[in-house]
Parts: sequence; structure tokens; C-alpha cells
Amino acid sequence: MPKSLDDATKKQLAARVNFYREMGIYDFYRRPVEEGALAIAASSRASEDDIVPVTPGSGRSLFDSSLPVIQDKPAALKIIREDLGDCTRCRLHKGRMNLVFGVGNVNADIMFVGEGPGADEDAQGEPFVGRAGQLLNNMISAMGLKREDVYIANVVKCRPPSNRTPEKDECDTCSPFLMRQIDVIRPKVIVALGAVAAKNLLAMNDSMANLRGRWYDFRDSKLLVTYHPAYLLRDPRQKKEAWKDLQLVMKYLGLKAPAKAPGE
Ligand code: SF4
Repeated sequence: MPKSLDDATKKQLAARVNFYREMGIYDFYRRPVEEGALAIAASSRASEDDIVPVTPGSGRSLFDSSLPVIQDKPAALKIIREDLGDCTRCRLHKGRMNLVFGVGNVNADIMFVGEGPGADEDAQGEPFVGRAGQLLNNMISAMGLKREDVYIANVVKCRPPSNRTPEKDECDTCSPFLMRQIDVIRPKVIVALGAVAAKNLLAMNDSMANLRGRWYDFRDSKLLVTYHPAYLLRDPRQKKEAWKDLQLVMKYLGLKAPAKAPGE
């Protein structure tokens, strides 16, 4: 280990350690390394096989890539779920029947992120299974995909009372677990469904009109904002606008719509 690290390296090292912590890896140890090489070895909660290793003397810097690639995604997600446990970190736990973790393909190119569970989701423990969920399924089908092809989660994992908007402190408490899920799934595109998801993910307080229609760099993904399906049920005229957003995603990923979009 060099006697002192420059500020940029310290910052990168801190970000890397934080990433491992978010992955559920808490214990670190130092081992002798060749001059000029840095290595962090992780032990305890995840096996070293879960992460592409950076070995001393490999000629590869610890910081060559932006973030480590998680190899065993189901195991990494299981750790996040176990860390949540029977979560009582915010007041939303009081009214829930089920904690709604997230569902879908761990290797998905697209991750949809909504606001929080509603009554149906709370009852079934799965995101987007009610009427809004049916519309989301139709939107996914219109993109030429199946629900099983994507990953779906919410900013908060417990149903707010009377389906109210989750409050800032509730989002702040719960969203680190979503960030960990995003870092495991590492989708090419995140679609933020509605203002709550968009504002929390982007940490921007802006109108949907301003948030929509452009790409954002988000962690290692691209992020696009569109309307929440529940809003589209209330105002179906906006479906056309949402479809425009999804077409941007399709273009980016090279997806082709089926001849006739299902559900139309
Ligand atoms: S909303 Fe999130 S932080 Fe709050 S109790 Fe549920 S799981 Fe825990």
C-alpha cells in the first residue's frame, strides 16, 4: 500500500468500499501487494467468485472499470432481501401485509421502477399486479417483450396508507436497497415510472414535462422518465406520450415492436 493516496484515488477507493458494503460485503482485509497495485479482498457474506476479482500483479488497476460485475446475481439479490429482513426502518412497515421486493429477470436489459406497492401488490407481495400492473404488462408487450424479460421494482417496498405518495424520509430510507438492486441487475435502461420514481432516482425536483423526453446517465445505466401506468389509467390521453417514451427505449436497445401492439 503506498504511504499516501492522492485525493482522487481516495475518493474512488471510498466509492468502491461503499459499493461492496451496499452489496452486503462488510468485512475487508489487507494483504501484501506488489508495488503499484491495490487490491481489496472481500470475505464473509459473498464469495469472491461473485465478483470479478482484481488480483495484485495482474497489471489491472482496481479502478479500471467503473464498478465490479456481480457474477451471481440471484445470490446478491438474496443478500439484499436478507438485509431488508422484516424491515421496520420506516413507518410504512406498520400497514403492510407483504414487503414487495421486486421481480423479474436478473439479467434484464430494462428495469422499470415505480413508486410503491398498492393494495394488490401489498396482498400478493409482487410489484405491478393490479390494474396499473396490467397496463404495464401491455406496455411491455407493445415493446415486443414479456414481463419475464424485464425487472420491476419500486422506490418504497411497503404500501403507503391509503396509497398516499411516499414521503421523502420514507423514500430516503428505502431507496438504498433499490440502488443495490440496480447495481446487481445493472440494466442497460431504467424506466422511471412517474414523478416520485423520477425525482427520487435523479434527485431532481422538476415537473414531469421537464423530466420526460431525454436520457439521463444513472450509475451504469441510461435512465428515461415516463408516466406511471396508474396515471395513464386516470388520463388515457397521455398513453400516446408514454408510447413515445417507450419507443425511445426500443430504439436505444434495437427492439422491434410486434406487428400490432398487444392490448391495443
Ligand atoms: S418501505 Fe422500505 S424502509 Fe420502509 S419499512 Fe418498508 S422495506 Fe423498510
